[in-house]
Amino acid sequence: MPKPAAGTDRITLLDAAHVVPVRPVRGSLPNHSVAIQGDRIAGLMPTREASQRWPDARHVDLTHHALLPGFINAHTHSPMTLLRGYADDMALDTWLREHIWPVEARFVDSGFVEDGTRLAVAEMLRSGTTCFNDMYFFPGSTVEVCREAGMRINAGLTIIEMKSSWAADVEAYIEKGLRLLEQWQGQPGVNFALAPHSPYTVSDGTLERIEQLSARHGLRVHMHLLETEWELKQSLQQHEQTPLERLKRHGLLNQRLTAVHMTQLTADDIEDVAEAGASVVHCPQSNLKLASGFCPVAELSDAGVNVALGTDGAAANNDLDMLGEAQTAALLAKGVAVDAKAVNAFQALEMMTVNGAQALGLEEIIGSIEVGKQADLCALDLDAPRMHPLHHVISQLVYAAASAQVTDVWVAGRRLLKSGALTTIDEAAVIHSAAHWRDRMARFGAAADH
Ligand SMILES: [Zn+2]
Repeated sequence: MPKPAAGTDRITLLDAAHVVPVRPVRGSLPNHSVAIQGDRIAGLMPTREASQRWPDARHVDLTHHALLPGFINAHTHSPMTLLRGYADDMALDTWLREHIWPVEARFVDSGFVEDGTRLAVAEMLRSGTTCFNDMYFFPGSTVEVCREAGMRINAGLTIIEMKSSWAADVEAYIEKGLRLLEQWQGQPGVNFALAPHSPYTVSDGTLERIEQLSARHGLRVHMHLLETEWELKQSLQQHEQTPLERLKRHGLLNQRLTAVHMTQLTADDIEDVAEAGASVVHCPQSNLKLASGFCPVAELSDAGVNVALGTDGAAANNDLDMLGEAQTAALLAKGVAVDAKAVNAFQALEMMTVNGAQALGLEEIIGSIEVGKQADLCALDLDAPRMHPLHHVISQLVYAAASAQVTDVWVAGRRLLKSGALTTIDEAAVIHSAAHWRDRMARFGAAADH
């Protein structure tokens, strides 16, 4: 258990109509307050009791709100917000090769990554997300924007056998990644994972290096895995092994693995993943939009696998809205399992909070409202017509709520969204810069068409 918060910072009490801690309490607590001291949660108790215990506390009135742990987006490519809607409604292969990769090759630099990340962070904070697991080029620029905005990040040290403006070859990706690790390690709110893009974009030799680096630095491995049937067939053809067997052979199927997508699994695979203690990140909207296949979420959960939730990049979704993703996950799981009991509302909520924390190796510090954990929280307005009548708070949050109802967000005790206004990001400037990128890309697209 994390230690109770110490220190002399003044207490702030968030007085909520309902607190949904997720752990250890698995229901909702009416008329409760969460005490914040510095960057941590210092207490959770009935509001009346909290006011008596801390008579000098500052109060935030959330008596028309539900207060939840901040959402954890366990897989995204944040700068790709700038490619939102750039190319839609086409097969994965055409989409990547003819549209996404050419435009990335032309435009991606540190400025693109900074502006795209800022847009992503604004969108994520507005929809209740307080931490995200990222994979993209120029991760140092993403980290800097997060530090400046107060957002928590698990940055992927991207590794891919493909030249980019960030790195010329695998050696350069690794060397630049390790330099970032050295530069930022220990800074609050910044964590890292190794992020090999996928089994089909890294060689056996590189997988071996990644296993060594993961063990040496205690880093998790965040990777797309078994996204499509094509990937499975290609691997069998080229390596005479499935992608999962290849990872196993290189010692990478273990509890440090965060495997994203996993739409092509046999019963034996599910057993192997469970036994290894690896985490899976489900990205239902991306899988649906790119017609990739279905992740067997209910079977994985039943086997004891930790399943978290991610939006994937905005080019394939097209938003970074975790509430929308949780709704899709719960509905899709029922359809796939042909079982209306599969992935109930509370399980969907776990997927976007505690399970996300575990998939990032951060379960000791975030993911639930528990004393001693970081004060990463979000508040949703319960007054909207779509939230009434309120029979079951958690069902309502998962099946009826919209992210526009998120009014307040705290990361490490800092209020980054205050009564609907971002406090650390100049939203008008962010939108202006997105329009500027749109114009540049439109000219590029028009030129490419001629
Ligand atoms: Zn992805």
